[in-house]
Amino acid sequence: MTCKRLRVSFQRRQDSTSSYHCCVPQCTASAKFNSYLSFHTFPKDTDLQERWVVNIRRDNFTVTQKTRVCSRHFESSDLIEPRAPTGRRHLKKGAVPVLFQWNNFAVSAARPGVWERIKRPNTDLTLDDPSVDVSVNYSDHDYVSTAESDALDLSLDHTDLRVEIANLRKQIEEISLSNKFCLERFAASDDDIRFYTRFASHGHLMAFWRQIEPATGKIVRVSRTQTAANPDEVPHTARATSLPPIDEFFLFMTYLSLGLMQKDLAHRFRIHQSTVSRIINTWANFLYTVLGPVGIWLDEEMVKAHMPDVFQQYSDTQVILDCTELRCQTQSSLLLKSEVFSSYKPHCTFKGLVGIAPHGAVTFISSLYEGAISDREILKQSGIVSLLKPTMAIMVDKGFLVEDCVPCKVHIATFLSKKAQLSGPEVRKTQSIARLRVHVERLIRRVKEHKIFSTVIPLSLTGSINQMYTVACLLVNYQNGPLVKAWHGNY
Ligand SMILES: [Zn+2]
Repeated sequence: MTCKRLRVSFQRRQDSTSSYHCCVPQCTASAKFNSYLSFHTFPKDTDLQERWVVNIRRDNFTVTQKTRVCSRHFESSDLIEPRAPTGRRHLKKGAVPVLFQWNNFAVSAARPGVWERIKRPNTDLTLDDPSVDVSVNYSDHDYVSTAESDALDLSLDHTDLRVEIANLRKQIEEISLSNKFCLERFAASDDDIRFYTRFASHGHLMAFWRQIEPATGKIVRVSRTQTAANPDEVPHTARATSLPPIDEFFLFMTYLSLGLMQKDLAHRFRIHQSTVSRIINTWANFLYTVLGPVGIWLDEEMVKAHMPDVFQQYSDTQVILDCTELRCQTQSSLLLKSEVFSSYKPHCTFKGLVGIAPHGAVTFISSLYEGAISDREILKQSGIVSLLKPTMAIMVDKGFLVEDCVPCKVHIATFLSKKAQLSGPEVRKTQSIARLRVHVERLIRRVKEHKIFSTVIPLSLTGSINQMYTVACLLVNYQNGPLVKAWHGNY
């Protein structure tokens, strides 16, 4: 909580475009480049203002509303730190600037406040008593004076250093939090959560996490055993080799959603690249095991019960079918330079069939097939045919010629293609068709918007390609929350 607060205040001050400069001679502080400093106006009280002007050593000085003195010149005991994240640092009533370049940012010995603040070895009882006039003692015992003034300088330096250290520590904390890439950093922004994970909100993500968390204990042990069993693995002690399970999950989701390169993920999460691919493999496998057995095919009644209004004319639609593709780097990279292998392609493509119920649930996922497979063949091999009944209908894109392969009606539509434009006669059809098109496109986009469907899967992850594809499709049912609710939200 405090961390979040710090970050907010840090960014606010950094973002500020104010161009205040400190008016104290030899001080170069400005609000633009010293985000941790505050800049204070002169007091209204004329006597107090006069003391400020004298202290900062500026003769014939005109104080305006824009004249500022930076917080470096005040003792920390005179500064009131902000309580609210957006708050400003204030000065105590009657505070006077006393720390300057010319006194080495240290107050003079006459000020009892210093003696109270600094803990010193208790060598001289008289000096430690603030009620005693120090200067008198000094003049009485010259030898003490010399020794003590050295000690005094040292102590004063310490105070100054302590303030400096506290400031630096604060800055480091602020910077390291804003540099850390973790779920916690984005927890407050549903917008960011959607961007990085495709879960509708932080609440949706956490609801899903609570369902799978009990099982994560197992997977962590599995991945560690694998590490230990792999003698080729070079330990990288300089970097963190493990993330908290929830951040491993976050990394996996970020990978599916954005299709980032492993090197990029390694930098973001500050782990080794080999750890990134291990985490992705492990989580693809784990989620496949956890989500895979959940039966997703819905019976006819269930689909009908949730049938959206836009499907009026196609109310027998059981499932909308579409193909997705995944591309992989191929093993034969060593052959790249060989002239003989002129037909060499750097990638190979896999194709899978996805079925979505009209209300938005993913209800069918085939395994992946070699990319050249025809729509008809993938439909036959996927096993979906045995689930279809004569009373049902499937909805497919116009190029999907499968009418003679299925035991049911086929609604062929043009709406699955992004380029599809309504032609003259189509425009004259009811508006409900257009709404249907928008709806179905949205459903298919939910699956395809995972960027791994448009990036190339590196070799280190190809072993998990089937799991990754299945998990990305299955997750759609969880990322958008309760389906009926999601439906109501859309219209
Ligand atoms: Zn200053």
